[in-house]
Amino acid sequence: MPTETTPTAPTLHRIVIVGGGAAGVELATRLGRREGRHGRASITLVDRNRTHLWKPLLHRVAAGTMDPTEHQTDYLAQARWNHFRFQQGALEGVDRARRVIQLARLVDTEGGEVLPPREVPYDTLVLAIGSQSNDFGTPGAAEHAIALDTPAQATRFHARLLNACLRADLDDAPADPHALHVAIIGAGATGVELSAELHKVVRELVAYGLHRIDPERDIRITIIEAAPRILPALSERLSEATRKLLERLDVAVMTGERVTEVTAHGVHTASGRFVGAGLVVWAAGVKAPPVLGTIEGLEVNRLNQLVVRDTLQTTNDPSIYAIGDCAACAWAEKGGFVPPRAQAAHQQASHLAADLPRVIGGRAPHAWRYRDFGSLVSLGKYSTVGSLMGSIARGSLMIEGLFARLMYLSLYKAHEYALYGFTKVSLDTMARLITRRTSPQIKLH
Ligand SMILES: Cc1cc2nc3c(=O)[nH]c(=O)nc-3n(C[C@H](O)[C@H](O)[C@H](O)COP(=O)(O)OP(=O)(O)OC[C@H]3O[C@@H](n4cnc5c(N)ncnc54)[C@H](O)[C@@H]3O)c2cc1C
Repeated sequence: MPTETTPTAPTLHRIVIVGGGAAGVELATRLGRREGRHGRASITLVDRNRTHLWKPLLHRVAAGTMDPTEHQTDYLAQARWNHFRFQQGALEGVDRARRVIQLARLVDTEGGEVLPPREVPYDTLVLAIGSQSNDFGTPGAAEHAIALDTPAQATRFHARLLNACLRADLDDAPADPHALHVAIIGAGATGVELSAELHKVVRELVAYGLHRIDPERDIRITIIEAAPRILPALSERLSEATRKLLERLDVAVMTGERVTEVTAHGVHTASGRFVGAGLVVWAAGVKAPPVLGTIEGLEVNRLNQLVVRDTLQTTNDPSIYAIGDCAACAWAEKGGFVPPRAQAAHQQASHLAADLPRVIGGRAPHAWRYRDFGSLVSLGKYSTVGSLMGSIARGSLMIEGLFARLMYLSLYKAHEYALYGFTKVSLDTMARLITRRTSPQIKLH
């Protein structure tokens, strides 16, 4: 298997970051600007894709209220501008004894080989390969439900939604009465946000000329949740307020219903109910990618996440770090583990960007502490709800409306700011505001 060589001084410390998501691309960018630029370390980012899209935007891509191409980061360009290297490839294994990672053969869409399987050597390895949906082995879920883990899945859902609308607009008597019914499994932030976006989108689609669809008659959105209430991460009051708002939008909310099977025609639950649906989204539960469980000698939990110390180093190998959704880091204040959230990924990337250069320089690593700023849920144009935690609110403060919306947007702006800096973020934001006036409000292809 060919091994990559670094085209820089051989004595440079090699930091390899695998996974260019909310955590990994921020870390590579910051380390590149800080260390790579001055030739103090060689930084390589590896991702299975060529572009990065911030994952919390995926429900908007699925609904069609956001064009992913306008928000994607091109890894090669980002690497060039920020003094790190980019390698495309999917992590297949880690040989800890030889300190190399193994990347799978890279093929194009026609199945032709672009790159053979390769090895990339490291001195320090940071694993940041995120998480994927956990369907808990529910029969039919893998075949019939779409998860929102990648831009490709979100785009596929959007195409299926558009196709279903086009078909329904042509048929006077549709063969499948549930063709425009959407079942969303899981009432966490993703499921709730998607339902509100979909409510808006289908009405706008009709306004673009699909007049034979009557949204009140033909469209039905149902959220199915196994827990007793929606949005378990928020307070009962906000959960109840959100439920009422969803019901006003005609979104059916079923709680305390565990899904037992997904078929081509809908969803069966443990209580014997059947929800007919032409489109099913799985938005309940996450687990880390299976490859992490195959790395010999590293400790994983039952969700396949790598167990890390408070320094973010894996418990059995201090030269391997894990950050973001694929890491299980104890949450001292609350007990349990730090939740899989973009804000945790962002904070861990910022911590390592400052701490890794110290550790490479021979000093002891600093501990990282999660600062919980609360949870926010956007209900599209209808509302934003959530709670602010910690030092901002000195406890917990429930927020709704415009202020909550601004706080929600600020998390994405913080990510963009870490990648591009103030000038580019301001110019891009202005450009998007201008093009919004001259383009359709939803993606029609
Ligand atoms: C629809 C949706 C809405 C969300 N909304 C919010 C929100 O409002 N607030 C919030 O805090 N969090 C939210 N989250 C959670 C948040 O997106 C994640 O916690 C965050 O993205 C985790 O960052 P990460 O870097 O660990 O993983 P990711 O951002 O998922 O990045 C992982 C990267 O690793 C790459 N990768 C995966 N496997 C491999 C492999 N084998 N080899 C090479 N590369 C690989 C992927 O291509 C990807 O680039 C949301 C998630 C979803 C799905």
